[in-house]
Amino acid sequence: MSKVTEVFGSMVFNEEVMRQRLSGACYQGWKTCIEEGKPLTLEIANEIANAMKAWAIEKGATHYTHWFQPMTGVTAEKHESFIAPIPGGRVLMQFSGKELVRGEPDASSFPSGGLRATFEARGYTAWDPTAFAFIKDGSLCIPTVFCSYGGHALDKKTPLLRSLDELSRQAVRIMRLFGDTQVKKVTCHVGPEQEYFLIDRSVYEKREDIALTGRTLFGAKPPKGQELEDHYYGSIKPRVAAYMAELDEELWKLGVLAKTKHNEVAPAQHELAPIYTDANTACDHNQLTMEVMKRVAARHNMVCLLHEKPFAGVNGSGKHNNWSLSTDTGKNLFKPGSTPSQNARFLLFLAAFLKGVDEYQDLIRCTVAIPGNDHRLGAQEAPPAIVSVFLGDELTAVVDSIINGTEYVEQGKKTLNIGVDSLPQIRQDNTDRNRTSPLAFTGNKFELRMLGSSQSIAGPNIALNTIMAEELQQFADILEKAENFNAALNELIKKTLTDHQRIIFNGNGYEEAWVKEAERRGLSNLTCAADALTHYYTPKNVALFEKHGVYTAEEFAARSEIHFENYCKVINIEASTMVDMVKRDIYPAVCAFMAHVAGTITAKKSAIADIDCSTEEKLLRELSRLSAELMDSCAELERKSAAVPEGTLAEEAHYYRYQVFAGMERLRSAADALEVITGASYWPYPSYSEILYSVR
Ligand code: ADP
Ligand code: MG
Repeated sequence: MSKVTEVFGSMVFNEEVMRQRLSGACYQGWKTCIEEGKPLTLEIANEIANAMKAWAIEKGATHYTHWFQPMTGVTAEKHESFIAPIPGGRVLMQFSGKELVRGEPDASSFPSGGLRATFEARGYTAWDPTAFAFIKDGSLCIPTVFCSYGGHALDKKTPLLRSLDELSRQAVRIMRLFGDTQVKKVTCHVGPEQEYFLIDRSVYEKREDIALTGRTLFGAKPPKGQELEDHYYGSIKPRVAAYMAELDEELWKLGVLAKTKHNEVAPAQHELAPIYTDANTACDHNQLTMEVMKRVAARHNMVCLLHEKPFAGVNGSGKHNNWSLSTDTGKNLFKPGSTPSQNARFLLFLAAFLKGVDEYQDLIRCTVAIPGNDHRLGAQEAPPAIVSVFLGDELTAVVDSIINGTEYVEQGKKTLNIGVDSLPQIRQDNTDRNRTSPLAFTGNKFELRMLGSSQSIAGPNIALNTIMAEELQQFADILEKAENFNAALNELIKKTLTDHQRIIFNGNGYEEAWVKEAERRGLSNLTCAADALTHYYTPKNVALFEKHGVYTAEEFAARSEIHFENYCKVINIEASTMVDMVKRDIYPAVCAFMAHVAGTITAKKSAIADIDCSTEEKLLRELSRLSAELMDSCAELERKSAAVPEGTLAEEAHYYRYQVFAGMERLRSAADALEVITGASYWPYPSYSEILYSVR
């Protein structure tokens, strides 16, 4: 590998490159636009486009694409070459400012949740000048937002940017109240930890289920799963190490701060964590990371699985979204400070966060309500579907002392007078090795651990940002009017912590006792996506997003619709795939094996008339009984999938969850029971052991 410092960002048209390649006036113009959130003038856009083109061509690019994130949660691109014909049958390489700032993908096939009638199918994409262009596979990729001609956001980036602006606006108001006149902007930082599986291409190709749905729909439990926990943080196999090294290099070229890599709990499972960046970049980079993970795997004859639950009975994959707020003057607002004033500010942001999470539990839950996550949340391997916040013992003691107006022991002090007294030191290493919490305070950030591994991090961050903006706005409204700031602050913090203390939970989230306790506290427990999503498009959530200009009611309704549709489609595809596998592969294989067993009985009897064939007979009966069950369940599943009742999307999703999905589970259990008694050479698919240990 070449020198990391030289490789890093070599495929990114970043600020440094712009400074070198643009005129001083143009560079300044771009900077001002970003700082003030204004659109670029055509003149500036033209100069940037020209410089970008020259740079990209030098790096071997032949095409450009507006790279965007439609509501499906993946990324989309449509490549245009730079060529333009000139007389004499020759071409020029051309790229104008207009092409840079605006593109028109014929995007009628992207789901729009009804936002874009097909007769005016086209939306337009516009460069997000706060995100750097980069080169991927010979194409200059321009990170863009995607809107309809009516101005509705059709993507995930636009609302994310809106939520970041609003959060900054409200947070700056709070900073002013604390006498800070310097801060102009508050930025949300995110570090997403990404889990994934690697399997060998040869086993992948033999599994129709993985190829079509990203997960195994059948598969008996392997003799050795993750019981020994010998994989977690274990030494990395050379083939995986080679993959990880190339992955790092590819990501570094794209300016992604790939930092940590290790083996995860399940066999074949790994994790990559970048160093955190601003939320917009983190979101772009996480999309890129997922894509590059798959591409590099292919080069190593492997397949990277990003599904939340590729294998039943084995840990699934999630994404930990580390989220924090800091000022443009470098202050982390979730860091307990060393002076009373910093502490007061910290406690205010903490109180706002707790209040927001308590009030919008359902919304947060909904942002991770994707079909794959139903197999993980609450399944003893991932946080429960109940949203709560872990604070750790020390911080909880502080919160309790504020609520109760009592002393806290370590300090031997009277009631904490916020803004006057200091807090006890909150040690960072005390804050959580409790992996069972869905949302944990980890020293200077909150870690939302409910995300599925395949999903875009935009949705959860849009929700966290908007919720936080709402609470900070309420606080600023109260405090700006206060005559005695310190008194009002003390009262506000105490009242907020008292009203919302039920959301704090430091115990074991995997225990059944927590489910009961949460119910007693009145916390919601939406165990599956179909149920959760009915709590998404509600008047309260619509009001939240509208008030802060993050989604219009229509934009939000569209998202709700797309989530429901996606849920139904995914289960429908999974059900059809199962039926296909059973009818064309599994049943014929079991029949062949039954014929073999029957043949053995006949052969044995013709050799020795009174020979004991009870073992074979018992096996044959069991195979026959289970295959009848298999085919019955299969027919029933087919019937159910074909008979989805007319109704609302919520009703349809509910039907898919409680009828179709339940039918899939029955079918699977018959097939898995057959797998363990059918001769291995007859079974049509690689077993769990063969898949999980395929990368050697
Ligand atoms: P874990 O113990 O969960 O593996 P790490 O300490 O490795 O956590 O950090 C996980 C992620 O959190 C990394 O992506 C890291 O960059 C990110 N992170 C660290 N500090 C912050 C912060 N202040 N804001 C947002 N993300 C952060
Ligand atoms: Mg983590």
